[in-house]
Amino acid sequence: MIEVIKTKNCGFCFGVRRAVKAVLKERGRTTGPIYTLGPLLHNPQVVQELVSQDIVPVSDVRSVKSGTIAYRSHGILREEEEYIGRQRLSAIDLVCPFVKRVRKCAMLLRKEGYRVVIVGDPEHPEVKSVLSYLDNDGIVLQNPSSIESSKVGVVSQTTQDQATYVDIVQGLVGKAEELRAFNTICDSTRSRKEEAVALAARVDVMLVVGGRNSANTTKLFHLVEKAQPNSHHIETDEELKPEWFAGVTKVGVTGGTSTPDSIIEKVEKRVKNF
Ligand code: SF4
Repeated sequence: MIEVIKTKNCGFCFGVRRAVKAVLKERGRTTGPIYTLGPLLHNPQVVQELVSQDIVPVSDVRSVKSGTIAYRSHGILREEEEYIGRQRLSAIDLVCPFVKRVRKCAMLLRKEGYRVVIVGDPEHPEVKSVLSYLDNDGIVLQNPSSIESSKVGVVSQTTQDQATYVDIVQGLVGKAEELRAFNTICDSTRSRKEEAVALAARVDVMLVVGGRNSANTTKLFHLVEKAQPNSHHIETDEELKPEWFAGVTKVGVTGGTSTPDSIIEKVEKRVKNF
């Protein structure tokens, strides 16, 4: 029988679990649609399940004229929050406290006169959200770069990898007269990556379970793939192929922060039956 080993950190992270729980609680309390600005989480199966309960993603806040809006865990734009306030729409704030910390640190740095640098992906909703609270007066960096300012303040996207953050901060040492850096990387993603890579190196096949539309799950897969070439990124157990497990005794399983336990459990069960 195949032995299946799961990483300790697997499935919903604290922020996503909290958001899903709260939105379902709100569903039980109210009638009428609940809108989320963009999908609540990057997992098509869960989003579909939420839609069936009238919890619907919208891309433009201005399309919402009534009902309840849920702010998703990775934040919304300040303009969106202002619109919701002006329209007096009912809102539930599901922004993860770790994401709020990035925003708080960035706003503090700006207030104290630092040129704010966000280490992260300029296209990620969290980075766009933080920037919007700085009136878009910040620099987003993905690689070391010199900044022309005497005072530079740094924060990081919560899901940023530690090595890039350290590289960028080190690159700024000696360039600015004053440098202040907050490491706002979320520990949940950091430890998940470390555990997954360590597990991948000691199994025959590694499975990364999660939405293909999740940038973080895709990044996790690419990291794992380096440690274990026999790795597969799947969304559900239905994608498993028996030939992946011929002659295999140990299979490792991990999941992205938006992957529910139920999907991971189904994968585990099916692999054991091969
Ligand atoms: S990955 Fe971290 S910061 Fe993002 S929602 Fe989950 S716990 Fe919060």
